[in-house]
Amino acid sequence: MEAKEIFNFSATSDDCVKCGKCIPVCTIHQINPDEVTSPRGFIDLLGSYQRGDLELDENAKNIFESCFLCTNCVDVCPNSLATDMVIEEVRADIADKFGISWFKRGFFFLLRHRFIMDLVMKMGYMFKTCALSKDIDGRGERAKFALPLVKKGRLLPSMAKRSFLNSYPEEIKVNHSTGKVAVFIGCLANYNYTTIGDSLIEILKYLNIETTIPKKQLCCGAPAYFTGDTSSVEYLIRKNVDYFETFIDNVDAIIIPEATCSAMIKHDWVVFCENHAHNELVPRIKKMLPKIHMATAWLHDNTELKSILATKGKRIDDLVTYHDPCHARKVQGIYQEPRNLLSPNYPMVEMSDPNRCCGFGGVTMQTEKFHLAELAGKPKAAMINETKAKYVSAECSACRVQLSEAMNDAGVETIFKNPLELIADALRD
Ligand code: SF4
Ligand code: SF4
Repeated sequence: MEAKEIFNFSATSDDCVKCGKCIPVCTIHQINPDEVTSPRGFIDLLGSYQRGDLELDENAKNIFESCFLCTNCVDVCPNSLATDMVIEEVRADIADKFGISWFKRGFFFLLRHRFIMDLVMKMGYMFKTCALSKDIDGRGERAKFALPLVKKGRLLPSMAKRSFLNSYPEEIKVNHSTGKVAVFIGCLANYNYTTIGDSLIEILKYLNIETTIPKKQLCCGAPAYFTGDTSSVEYLIRKNVDYFETFIDNVDAIIIPEATCSAMIKHDWVVFCENHAHNELVPRIKKMLPKIHMATAWLHDNTELKSILATKGKRIDDLVTYHDPCHARKVQGIYQEPRNLLSPNYPMVEMSDPNRCCGFGGVTMQTEKFHLAELAGKPKAAMINETKAKYVSAECSACRVQLSEAMNDAGVETIFKNPLELIADALRD
């Protein structure tokens, strides 16, 4: 069944008053100033598609795949029209009509099968030196030569020798426990940026909080959702919901050190299940939501971490600037909490527009449409450079991939760190 048969694009199109408030803030419109690649334009085209006046041809596919899903437009729209969500829905029809390319199908298959993904990542780690060379500042690995969909010299995230989930026991006990949380780690922090999870465990131990590391957790489904692979999204939501229900009553919270995974679980799981008639899952997900939190927000609101950092944490002179991931600030309203946790120990400087999208945009944008991601990353790299900060921080590994490469490309020396890594540094002797 096509998305337009189960989802009413015309209702969104009819509600657009054409005020144009969304246009100056739109990430794709900023780099491709054309009405058709603007939120108002996308919505108008989707109304035509619903009425049968627009065919989903290569041109339409190209247009709908150029949205970064940054939600800037939703933030400013007087009618709160969810342009990102209607684009996600039409991408399901695009995937049905054109198919999903072989490398994305392979990638989503791996995200559904943790054991095989573990093996592939191990092989990747063993043979990575054939194609990649280590960046001297430890920011990632550079492609030694042009690879399929990756240009020579591009900075890619390093592959860890052992994944986060395979590095720790399922239960981490502490003396004089003050609480218990489960960690949902996210795929990039599990396989690539494993120091994020290490830092989170260190912080939780410092706070005497017991930790469960649920080993059967799967990808939250965000990469498949942004690409229109609805069967993978449904599979991953179902598996995770069934699994979360086995332990959620035994913990105070499930905490997630990643903005995109957190937004996907807290916001998009319900939206997806409602739009795709998986109605039996909706109350089960809603029951869990009060216990699901982004890591810095939960630590800020539920522990003494901020005052501990102020009284016992080291003062570190390295200047830090904070970038607001779209999925943290715009989708979840989280922006003050990580700043409040970093400011006791680090001098902070704001970049000119911390809320501007970094330009990551998802799997398609990072592969077939990487030229758009590059264009969107340039102004962000420039504003980070202007701050002269040693570190740029954001609780999002997708932003890390994109900003590390954008800074690499522009010769900016600033290094990316998740706020949890900086906080753990400040707590160490
Ligand atoms: S989600 Fe971002 S890129 Fe897409 S239409 Fe809205 S503002 Fe533009
Ligand atoms: S801000 Fe909202 S109502 Fe105004 S043009 Fe954009 S999508 Fe339409």
